[in-house]
Amino acid sequence: QDKLFGGFRRTSDRLAQNLTGLFTATELDDEKLDEIEEALIASDLGPATAARIRARIDAFRYDRKVTEDDIRRIVANEIETILAPVAKPLEIEAFPRPQVILVIGVNGSGKTTTIAKLAHLLKEQDYNVMLVAGDTFRAAAIGQLKVWAERIDVPIITGAEGGDAASLVFEGVKQGVASGIDVLIVDTAGRLQNKAGLMDELAKIRRVLGRLNPAAPHDVLLVLDATTGQNALSQIGIFKETAGVTGLVMTKLDGTAKGGVLVAAAEQFGLPVHAIGLGEGVDDLKPFDAGEVARAIAG
Ligand code: GDP
Repeated sequence: QDKLFGGFRRTSDRLAQNLTGLFTATELDDEKLDEIEEALIASDLGPATAARIRARIDAFRYDRKVTEDDIRRIVANEIETILAPVAKPLEIEAFPRPQVILVIGVNGSGKTTTIAKLAHLLKEQDYNVMLVAGDTFRAAAIGQLKVWAERIDVPIITGAEGGDAASLVFEGVKQGVASGIDVLIVDTAGRLQNKAGLMDELAKIRRVLGRLNPAAPHDVLLVLDATTGQNALSQIGIFKETAGVTGLVMTKLDGTAKGGVLVAAAEQFGLPVHAIGLGEGVDDLKPFDAGEVARAIAG
């Protein structure tokens, strides 16, 4: 809770700064509405969302007296309305087991750390979790995931650097079935700049999975770095089209002024947001709560 509000402080600080002083005057007129809209855009909520919130405030309050608190409350309510439909926890419900979760995202987004956090969380909920080090492109990625697996004490399947990711995933599912695994979390290579290669590899992984279980992969989680702001939005666009993303995890919300990008993403894409990353530790993955985040952003 503290981390959440601490993390969003910079977003809300900026919004607060932008909103402060706007309401020393009395009635809400067009000029004030313009200023509110600009403040919202400056807080990374994106032009479409800002326009929508402006319209709401306009509809409710035009020509009436408003205080900064009124505006803040309306903004928080509007943000919550936008976020509520996408706030969906990741459900573990696949039958037959295992549920296969592909994790994708560009390098540096927090993919490896998120996999470790997610595995830890599921393990604490008594699920049998296994990892597959499917980012065979980077030796460092394999090593890093191995270290995490040891630390959180979950089994991991690794192959050689440069090895075939799809074969490794195939092996993972086979072993997962044999040892009663509930959730198989698969790391994948993150190479946005090399789109064709990434697509081919993902498509191959999908084909292999589909042969083992037509429902797999059950989830395709896209990990996004909130500190990249609007850049995260274009990543969603690309991966949604090329990789069949089913849900999002937004990381690094503990240290950024760009938390508003979550709102823009929700409005623009409507993809479920399963969780948010609020730190580098294994306990720093939190379920995404629309009301809490809305209040944290509105300050
Ligand atoms: P990958 O290349 O996508 O696998 O990214 P990593 O998982 O290696 O993470 C890249 C860096 O971001 C590492 O230093 C992580 O500790 C850090 N990181 C990941 N998630 C978070 C988060 O939620 N908050 C913060 N502050 N740092 C994070």
